[in-house]
Parts: sequence; structure tokens; C-alpha cells
Amino acid sequence: MELHKLWEAVLARVELELSPANFSTWFKNTQAVEKSKDTLVVGVPNSFVKEWLQTKYAKNLLNIVREVDNKIRRLEFVVIKISQQTGFSAKRKTLTEFDRQKIANLNPRYTFKNFVVGSFNELAHAASLAVTENPGSVYNPLFVYGKVGLGKTHLLQAIGNEILQKTQDLRVKYMSAETLTSQIVQAIRNQNIESLKRDYIQYDVLIIDDVQFLSGKEKTQEEFFHLFNTLYQKNKQIVLSSDRPPRAIPALAERLRSRFEGGMIADISYPEFESRIAILKRKLEEKNHHIKDEVIEFIAKTVQTNIRELEGALNRVLLTQKLKQKELSLKEVKDLLKEISIPSNKKLSPKNLIKAVADFYDLKEKDILSSSRKREIVKPRQIAMYLLKENFGCSYPFIAKLFGGKDHTTAIYAVEKIKKQLEHDEHLFQELEVIKIRLTEGE
Ligand code: ADP
Ligand code: MG
Repeated sequence: MELHKLWEAVLARVELELSPANFSTWFKNTQAVEKSKDTLVVGVPNSFVKEWLQTKYAKNLLNIVREVDNKIRRLEFVVIKISQQTGFSAKRKTLTEFDRQKIANLNPRYTFKNFVVGSFNELAHAASLAVTENPGSVYNPLFVYGKVGLGKTHLLQAIGNEILQKTQDLRVKYMSAETLTSQIVQAIRNQNIESLKRDYIQYDVLIIDDVQFLSGKEKTQEEFFHLFNTLYQKNKQIVLSSDRPPRAIPALAERLRSRFEGGMIADISYPEFESRIAILKRKLEEKNHHIKDEVIEFIAKTVQTNIRELEGALNRVLLTQKLKQKELSLKEVKDLLKEISIPSNKKLSPKNLIKAVADFYDLKEKDILSSSRKREIVKPRQIAMYLLKENFGCSYPFIAKLFGGKDHTTAIYAVEKIKKQLEHDEHLFQELEVIKIRLTEGE
């Protein structure tokens, strides 16, 4: 029997055994490469699939293969590079490295190198790496989900950064689902959805963060569905994240949900104690700081469910040490972190946050809440919006309402702006830390 016939027959049987998502995850782009005596060599698209087939599915697969050809007694797996997809090679202007970076909208700080891997995020990490090996051809889409602060954005951005680095010409685009939504809404309003689509078609890798935000946005979902299909058909890589699996996103159109489920779904769970320690140690290394092991362990024990807060606690300790110009004892650290271990603390209300920001910049609360355009007011206002979003998890509409019913794109703009600035402005970073410390200490 010809090799490809044999493999077709095997795949047809495998397909009956696995869910469609699993089938496409593990068997898309596999092929029979060679048969010699009793061994069948199977080509797979990346080392991740190889690993999985070898360790988890080899026996089953061999049984199925032997149903088709009982002379085969052994399977061997090899990674074969899939030739670049046609969608990528269409003639187009080559961009400079600078332009590619600019379009991509990525934070260069998020890389695979500084991403700590433990059993809680192993699958998501491996799948993400696999995507960078062969964008657009293995897991499409890759859907990563997990609770807030567990590394989704870091991982998604690492994919983008890695692809930018590895390739010369692929165009990467990262955006939040909020930005996607506001672009679509605006395009509908201006009746130029076609030109928006042309914009998107140029991307080879489209990364959309926090797609749970699409919940209930029917019109946006409808347009995104078409956009998704167009990109998908052209073998463009799509990467998505969400705080929950597709089936748990409320008010998500069925057809979009099934698209989200059509590739690889990987979750990130809570990091175990050892991973939390590893993360803290890595962050200290990066910052070139040292704190006592007992303090590291205490932080890892206290903050369990959110890596952003884990980092925040560490930063708070480091900054307090710097302000006091001495190393903190375990007892002092315990006192310092008492507040964050009680998330329901009343002091941590949005109102108190606004007051803390106002105090810090010598303003009155009503100044910050006003719509004044004075520079010395605009910046603190944007900072307050940023902290409300990032540290209090407030929604954009909520923030907009708090600040006098502004259009919520103003809030999005403010948060994005501060986020960008924080990437290079160490001074601003410290200001924000001081505000947070004052807030939790309640002065
Ligand atoms: P999410 O998008 O899931 O809310 P983020 O990706 O923003 O979470 O992660 C929150 C913070 O924790 C970021 O500063 C990120 O760099 C850090 N972080 C998350 N996971 C890891 C990890 N595995 N290794 C190192 N840092 C991590
Ligand atoms: Mg995120």
C-alpha cells in the first residue's frame, strides 16, 4: 500500500477516536514518511507533538496502524519542518525591523527567557513554543486561558516577540480584545469595515488578549468571525487568551465558540509553591537584588493565586527596604504584607485609591475627577484610571462612569498610555509603588 494511502486510512480511524479539537491538535500536518521492514516513520510538525504521541498515544496508534498494515511492529516519530505556507509568501513590501516592531505593539520585556515554567503552565508554554516554530500551521487558533495575573499576556507577547526575532518578514500584531472591539465598532460606524479587513489581512500572526471581553458584543463578534475565517483560510496564525475556556464565556456566538475550540486549548492554573519560589527568585535575579530565603518563602506562602500580586509583594518589600535603607526582618515583612493577604480590606476601595493618587500629587479628589486638561491633572487622572484597571480589576465602563461618564475609550487610552510609559519610565514605576504602599498602609 502506498504510504499516503496507509496514513489516510490510519487518520480516518484515529479521527473516530478523538474529539475534533484533539484530532486537529495532534494529527494535523502529520504524515507517513517512510516504511522499512517493520517500522513506520511518522513525520510530525514539532517536538511537542512528537513528545505527546510518543508518551501518551504511541500504543493506541500502533494498534490502529496494525489494523491497516499488520506487518508494522514499531513506530518512529520525526519532526519535519512544514514548508512556509503560501499565505505568507505573497508579494508585498518588506518592512524594516523598526516598522515590524512598531506594528506589533509588543512589550519587549515579555519573553520566553524570563517566563518560569512549572507544571501549572507547562502545556500552555509548550504549545506556545510550538506555535513559534511553525506559525499558522499547527495549532490554529491557540487558545490560552487562565485566571487573572497568571501569565497569559506574558505568554502571548512572548510568542509575538519570539516570532519577530526568529523571522525576517512575518508581521505580528498584538492587541487586546477591547482595542479590537473599539476598532470594529468605529469601522462599522464609519462604514469602512472592508478597509479594516484589509488592514488585518496583512498580519501573519494576530494575537488577541482577553477575548472574554467580546461577551455580549454581538455585532463585534459577527465581524470578528468573518475576520477570523479570512485569516484562518490564509493560514495566518491566530492566538487568543481568555480568563475562561470558550464554552464558559457567556453570550458568545456558537459559531465563534466553535472556531475558538477548533485548534489547541491550553490552560494555566495556579502555580504550586515551588513555582512561586522559582518565580520570586527569577525576579530577584533580574533586578539583581537579594532577600533572605525565609522572606522569599513567606511571600510565596502568602500570595498564592496571582503572579502579578506575587511580584507586587516582592516589589513592595524591595522598595520599602530602599526607602528605609535597611534590610527588613521577617516580622517587618509580615506586617508590610498583612494588608495584601486580606483582599476584602475596606481601605482598598476605588474611592480611597483616587484619594491616594490625589494626595500623592498634591491635588484634590475633585480635581482628578474633573475634566480639566491641565497637564498636572491629566497625568494623575490617567494613573488613577490605570491603577483602577490593573490593580482593582475595574471594568472600563465602570471607570468611565466614575470619571464623570466619559466615553470609555478615554479610559482605555489612559490605561494603555500609562502601561506604555511604565515600560521605560522607572521613575513612574516607583511613584506608583509608593502610592500603593501608602494605600495599603493607610497612613
Ligand atoms: P494575565 O495576563 O494572565 O493577567 P500577566 O501575563 O499580565 O497575567 O502576568 C502578570 C505578571 O506576572 C506579569 O508581570 C508577568 O511577567 C508575570 N508572570 C506571569 N507568569 C509568569 C511566569 N511563568 N514567569 C515569570 N513571570 C510571570
Ligand atoms: Mg493579561
